[in-house]
Amino acid sequence: MAGELNIGPVHLKWLGHAGFRFESQGKIVYVDPYILDGVAPPADYVLITHEHHDHCSPQNIQRLMKPNTIVIAKLLEVGKGYKNHDIKVIAVPAYNIGKPYHTPRTGIGYVIDFFGVKIYHSGDTDKIPEMAEIGIPMHWGAGIIGTRQDAEQFQQLVGDMCQVAIL
Ligand SMILES: [Zn+2]
Repeated sequence: MAGELNIGPVHLKWLGHAGFRFESQGKIVYVDPYILDGVAPPADYVLITHEHHDHCSPQNIQRLMKPNTIVIAKLLEVGKGYKNHDIKVIAVPAYNIGKPYHTPRTGIGYVIDFFGVKIYHSGDTDKIPEMAEIGIPMHWGAGIIGTRQDAEQFQQLVGDMCQVAIL
């Protein structure tokens, strides 16, 4: 189905804009759930990259909450992390170059280790030097920051190093 992908034991769904849902072994993680699909099962973890309304929707976070939901937000600084038995999260840099919208203080991206699958959610960012140590730009198509061409350019840059799926 469009916008969905299985990576090992993890099912990944792009929800629109920068929002994703990852599911594995009954555990559910959302990142930046600004848009929800009709299913929207409650979250074990909600990760928010920054407070802009198109990433951090308090109504949707509320809708996804269940008694033990853990919400991880900008409280994490770059290099800091969160760890539980089923997930490891590390905050990584995310910012714009030559534009005022996102400074290094505005937000973060995440590297998420979920049941052994490593997922990089870039947050709201340009192509920044720190990415050489991480991986994949994810925020394109909104018309403000990124475009499909960015994703295609990335695909070319990566070449055969790994599989690139443009959702
Ligand atoms: Zn933003």
